[in-house]
Amino acid sequence: MTELPPLRDVIARHGLSASKALGQNFLFDAQLLARIARIPGDLAGAEVLEVGPGPGGLTRALLQAGANVTAIERDRRCIPALDELSVAFPGQLSVIEGDALAIDPRPLFKGKPHIAANLPYNVGTALLVGWLSAEWFPWWQSLTLMFQREVADRIVAAPGTDAYGRLAVLAQWRSVPRIAMPVHRSAFTPPPKVMSAVVHIVPKEAPEGVDLRRLEALTAAAFGQRRKMLRQSLRSLPGALEALEAEGIDATRRAETVSVAEFVAVARRLS
Ligand code: SAM
Repeated sequence: MTELPPLRDVIARHGLSASKALGQNFLFDAQLLARIARIPGDLAGAEVLEVGPGPGGLTRALLQAGANVTAIERDRRCIPALDELSVAFPGQLSVIEGDALAIDPRPLFKGKPHIAANLPYNVGTALLVGWLSAEWFPWWQSLTLMFQREVADRIVAAPGTDAYGRLAVLAQWRSVPRIAMPVHRSAFTPPPKVMSAVVHIVPKEAPEGVDLRRLEALTAAAFGQRRKMLRQSLRSLPGALEALEAEGIDATRRAETVSVAEFVAVARRLS
């Protein structure tokens, strides 16, 4: 295996003090990083998009697992450290300096890449919503993403729980998310205030077809007033009450009791 200098040395040598503005909380534990890199499955020869590699902890683990990694990093200070990794793993890593929210990564891959990222909460959620909303079948094979635990819980939430809402419906409509690994806040440098978890998401083989805008309009209205009965919260959405009735869904129920399949069925009847 390629001998690499300890990450802490790389950070000291390149002056990579964690920037609060860029939401930087670094992972140094090689064993933990190797476990995260195993979540997508066998990566030998596989294409991986890594967003926000920072000083390259997860990048190393992905490269050591045999992946061909394309990494997008916004912080210019990290690029020399990542370039050193490109030298240590010849032909396996290409580094792009830029804002992942502004880059279309699809032309960068021959096939369907796995995506892996440990990102600040707001950037990670925005990218996730974009990846889940893109045209289907998706251009990615799997998503392995670090989130704060509360967001991870909202992605995998089941009906009838407080965490169940728009994000759960969006994530579970066409894909299957699971919490792959809880990660203690003390694993990060500097430690964030809250706990984290890695979420693994794979696309469903045969998802129900429905217009995403209709599904989003429906869940926005329903969860906008989540404590109210559907007959109240959906009153202003044209055709929604008729669609509920046609699906045999009791309009006195509340949004958080409605399953993903029921939301999809109702959305398909909206015009
Ligand atoms: N992956 C590294 C790790 O696990 O140690 C770094 C994680 S740190 C939480 C998040 C990284 O994402 C930082 O390096 C930050 O500069 C980068 N980042 C933040 N916003 C970004 C964006 N919009 N596009 C690309 N990278 C971004």
